[in-house]
Amino acid sequence: MARQHFLVVAYPGQGHINPARALAARLARTTGAHVTLSAAVSSHRRMFPSLAAPDEEVHDADDGGISYVPYSDGYDEGFRLFASDGEAAWKNTETFGRVGRETFAGVVDRLAARGRPVTCVVYAFLMWWAADVARERGIPRVLYWIQPATMLAVYYHYLHGYEQLVTEHAGEPEFTVAMPGLPPMAIRDLPSFFTDLDDTRLSAAFHGVRTTIEQLDIDRRSSSGSGIAGAKKPMVLVNTVEELELDVLASSFPELDILPIGPVVTSLDGGEAAKASHDLYKHDEKAYMAWLDAKPVGSVVYVSFGSMSVVSKRQKEEIRRGLAATARPYLWVVRKDDRDDADGDHAGDGDHGGMVVEWCDQVRVLSHRAVGCFVTHCGWNSTLEAVACGAPMVAAPQWSDQDTNARLVAGWGVGVRAATGADRVLEAGELARCVETVMEETEEAAAVRRNSAAWKAKVREAVAEGGSSDRNLKAFLDRIANVA
Ligand code: UDP
Repeated sequence: MARQHFLVVAYPGQGHINPARALAARLARTTGAHVTLSAAVSSHRRMFPSLAAPDEEVHDADDGGISYVPYSDGYDEGFRLFASDGEAAWKNTETFGRVGRETFAGVVDRLAARGRPVTCVVYAFLMWWAADVARERGIPRVLYWIQPATMLAVYYHYLHGYEQLVTEHAGEPEFTVAMPGLPPMAIRDLPSFFTDLDDTRLSAAFHGVRTTIEQLDIDRRSSSGSGIAGAKKPMVLVNTVEELELDVLASSFPELDILPIGPVVTSLDGGEAAKASHDLYKHDEKAYMAWLDAKPVGSVVYVSFGSMSVVSKRQKEEIRRGLAATARPYLWVVRKDDRDDADGDHAGDGDHGGMVVEWCDQVRVLSHRAVGCFVTHCGWNSTLEAVACGAPMVAAPQWSDQDTNARLVAGWGVGVRAATGADRVLEAGELARCVETVMEETEEAAAVRRNSAAWKAKVREAVAEGGSSDRNLKAFLDRIANVA
């Protein structure tokens, strides 16, 4: 039997590359197969800043033997959705599809010409054209969904019969929609793509979601499915844990073969990949881990709004005042590319025992015993990392899937969802109130801490030998092995 060669392809964002790298590392470790990760040149050059050329391939990197072979999406210097206008966002979408498809096809063909043909394309969220490229070449393909299963169900049903109803009620936050297999969802719990209908940047971004789901439809209707022998339904690997989303998984996807394999988080499983960072952002050199070491158990508030957010000056001011009001020590990530002016953003350092960093090793921070609360925008990676580390959350969702993720957090009892105004700003008083709700010595806060600890244990069990995610990954590998 030919040696397997998985080609994992990811969108150039930190929140996409992290779960892609972690899956690549897990595949390499569990199977001994060749694993290649393909990300856009804009991110590849930031992951490996010392390369002679920005698109130079990297083999046998210090993270378990994964090869990195980039594609170009026509924006090798990068593209920031929220720094652009609607027209630029649509142009980006068009270029991304056209150039990405061509250069990714080049990657696949080059690997074949070198005698290492790809035997399975794992296309992560938004990489819809990679499925086309695989299909044209008869290569089995599987979608890697890097958001919760609930979110996949919402998008899937929205695009299969519910779009009109949701659009008609887009302006009514409390209106509820009952989609198959899902609990009634209020409009306010659904992705901002469905409600901010006038924002052309959001429509451009949503185009990628729509076309990703369309790939499943194409494979569903085809007689050869997604090219995996004996598998009639398109297969989707989901970065979630069966136990977290049992009901949705059981009843929302009659037309898909869903395998929850999460949490797929690099440094959690302590694999080879954990040793090498290769983040898109440079880690802050401040000794924040030593700073955490000196803090009492459960005393620190960790604040981060992820890798893409543009946090307004007013929002930063509210955070600063809210944290000051709690008088608790805090570690706050303000990315270098999201600073307004040096004065304002550095003003927090030292005040009330706070530390502001440009970028940190978030999973290590969340795993630290001193962290008692995570104020988060609820990107799915951050949410799942917090669950896996048992860190109680204050959810302050901003856009995309984050409102739905925040609802899940509240539902699992591992945090609270903060109220924000129409402009999405989390005000100082509400921030302080929510932080106290999960940190102070009350029965309510103790219950959140107990739930967080209990979910942490369940989620760790899922990825351990014989756990649900471990079994699901093995089921995927068995099916793929039958094709090679
Ligand atoms: N992250 C990190 N250091 C930081 C801030 C964030 O390593 O200082 C990581 C975090 O662990 C997560 C990713 O960046 O894996 C952010 O992904 P998420 O889905 O939470 O949000 P996005 O950035 O896509 O909005």
